Amino acid sequence: MNIFKTKTELSSFLTELRKKNKTIGFVPTMGALHDGHISLTKQSASQTDYTVVSIFVNPTQFNDPKDLEKYPRTIDKDIEKLKQAGVSIVFLPNVTEIYPKKDSRIFDFGNIDKVMEGKHRQGHFNGVAQVVSILFEIVIPNKAFFGLKDFQQYVIVKELVKKYMADSNIEIIGCKIIREPNGLAMSSRNELLSSQERENASIINSTLQKAKTLTGEKSVDEIKNFVIQKINQNKFLKVEYFDIVDDTKLEQIKTWEEKSQKVGCIAVFCGSVRLIDNIYF
Ligand code: AMP
Repeated sequence: MNIFKTKTELSSFLTELRKKNKTIGFVPTMGALHDGHISLTKQSASQTDYTVVSIFVNPTQFNDPKDLEKYPRTIDKDIEKLKQAGVSIVFLPNVTEIYPKKDSRIFDFGNIDKVMEGKHRQGHFNGVAQVVSILFEIVIPNKAFFGLKDFQQYVIVKELVKKYMADSNIEIIGCKIIREPNGLAMSSRNELLSSQERENASIINSTLQKAKTLTGEKSVDEIKNFVIQKINQNKFLKVEYFDIVDDTKLEQIKTWEEKSQKVGCIAVFCGSVRLIDNIYF
């Protein structure tokens, strides 16, 4: 396995691969790796010649310093998992490697970063755009793989490439959500839950699944109320938002008759741990 800590070393290694016409897939992560991350590396391996995985807990995307501080860091286990998954190129930069000086770029994504996660985590997506654009410039991948668990992030990264990096021709691939056996979407943050909280958090997904079966008989607003009330009835859980939006502009859906693809996106606090999930209707 080739582990690089500096962008210069990684870049020169990848330049040699590109000279041999090899394609490069890229999976950016913040570590504390689980099967969701590994599924992205598998997709990358099936579609490109070489896969690069980065592990970098990006400070600029955390609006809450406590969240950044308690974010799980399990680097030795992560490297072991990547070895087992057959990943051969890993990028482990430190903060000054990525941000030699303060990044003051402000990205304009219109509506899509003002709603849902963007509304409740001010500055979060600007930080995501900063780190993803820097990593893309270093790795210059042919394809980059993002989980649909972070649905809004996937939409914004696609817009980032279209609006700010169009010449790069990077293709953004959305990968399906990997879940625990009880249905809870896998997340590095699940590590911070007690086993009782983890069990109760499975209600998030089961409620979204139930809501999907009710669209024939209930209006959009009724479904929203159903989901919020049902989850809030559980004493471990508190819904922050549940919105049903179209899957490209992320505008609110008002009726089921609208033609666009519809996604229900939710954020729920389980104790102090914030979990997100979503479902296509
Ligand atoms: P993170 O380390 O949380 O920043 O996630 C890195 C990448 O893994 C992002 O593209 C996430 O959307 C993706 N990811 C995280 N959890 C899952 C999951 N349960 N299923 C699929 N992809 C995931």
